[in-house]
Amino acid sequence: MSKVLIVGAGGVGSVTVRKCAQFPEVFSEIWLASRTKSRCDAIAADLAIEGKVIHTAELDADDVPATVKLLERIQPRVLLNLALPYQDLTLMEACLATGVHYVDTANYEPRDVAKFEYKWQWAYRERFEKAGLTALLGCGFDPGVTNAFCAHAVKHLFDEIRTVDILDANAGDHGRPFATNFNPEINIREITQRGRYWERGEWKETDPLSLHMPYAFPDAQVATREIYLLFHEELESLALNLPGLERIRFWMTFSQNYLTHLRVLENVGMTSIEPVIYQGTPVIPIEFLKALLPDPASLGPDTKGKTCIGCLVTGVRNGQESSQFIYNICDHEACYRELKSQAISYTAGVPPVVGAKQLLTGAWLRPGVWNIEQMDPDPFMNDLGLFGLPWQVVEASPLMAP
Ligand code: NDP
Repeated sequence: MSKVLIVGAGGVGSVTVRKCAQFPEVFSEIWLASRTKSRCDAIAADLAIEGKVIHTAELDADDVPATVKLLERIQPRVLLNLALPYQDLTLMEACLATGVHYVDTANYEPRDVAKFEYKWQWAYRERFEKAGLTALLGCGFDPGVTNAFCAHAVKHLFDEIRTVDILDANAGDHGRPFATNFNPEINIREITQRGRYWERGEWKETDPLSLHMPYAFPDAQVATREIYLLFHEELESLALNLPGLERIRFWMTFSQNYLTHLRVLENVGMTSIEPVIYQGTPVIPIEFLKALLPDPASLGPDTKGKTCIGCLVTGVRNGQESSQFIYNICDHEACYRELKSQAISYTAGVPPVVGAKQLLTGAWLRPGVWNIEQMDPDPFMNDLGLFGLPWQVVEASPLMAP
């Protein structure tokens, strides 16, 4: 029985709160704090109808002293950071100051440079170790479950692994001309940067979204989709931590309609993070675009179809070359019926709950700052189905080299 504080009441945070509330035997008291308290209160009011109690608070997580004060008042055992990557370091500081374990789903990136990497958070290793606290980095779906899938492949499926291709397919349709499935600013910053993958100790770069191919996913409703190579944050830690790895890449599906909108927005400068002066006021185009686009949390009622996210791993299994796909399928409508969210926020918001459970039960208590593949995958993988993210393994053809 343990007290948890969730920071961030957006699309993903609301899933995390609702999922924690399904497991009172693990989370004895649930707090939700965010910049806009009314969003926390709306989620709490909704859950109150089901007889579930959520405590709420207003918090600017950029403000370390204010966060420390709140943590001292609440005294949670673990903080789940579902705000934005910009808040990672301030929340880690506040956890260190108050003796609270830390979990997030996206690595730190400075606001003024569209560049995410782990170096800023890995720099906290020694301080967390000395404080006897555990920080789990990137405990969403990708990163998060994909890292655990890789650790599972290493531990149980292969004698040695050679390549990993992480495949993220969203075959859902929300009926809007253009929308992103999670925070538009973070999402567009990620997609519009140069592609990057790791091969034999070297990072190789590609023009944004220039490398693509069709892939037949193992679900009739997802079927064959065009997958595009992107850089994604888990590549950085997996390239370091998976033994014997020769190559790792990340691929995501996009519709032609999505890519056409994105190209036009980029061409006219709407995805830029450089401020422009408009009528004497500095405006950051991508922040203005975020204000125009649908709130991802509002897409839930209309989204139909499925997601399929998994790891296609090749290597040697029982002495023979083998290729295995470990994956989860989520149905947007089923996610909405259960937690009032589309499947992207669902798949991102449930894993931090499963990760927090491993901390609270002691299975993953290990002072320091860790990526998910560094932990024993078994307790986490065993719990995924119970918490709503069942997974399976099938034989599948490997992807060709680029
Ligand atoms: P949203 O924009 O919907 O929600 C973010 C929430 O954080 C909002 O409630 C926002 O407040 C709050 N917030 C922002 N700044 C602060 C602050 N300074 N102090 C307190 N609260 C703040 O984003 P999403 O829910 O879509 O995404 C949340 C996180 O999940 C992101 O970091 C994203 O990268 C990550 N993610 C991870 C995935 C994975 O699989 N690993 C997949 C998808 C997302 P306000 O309501 O006032 O705006």
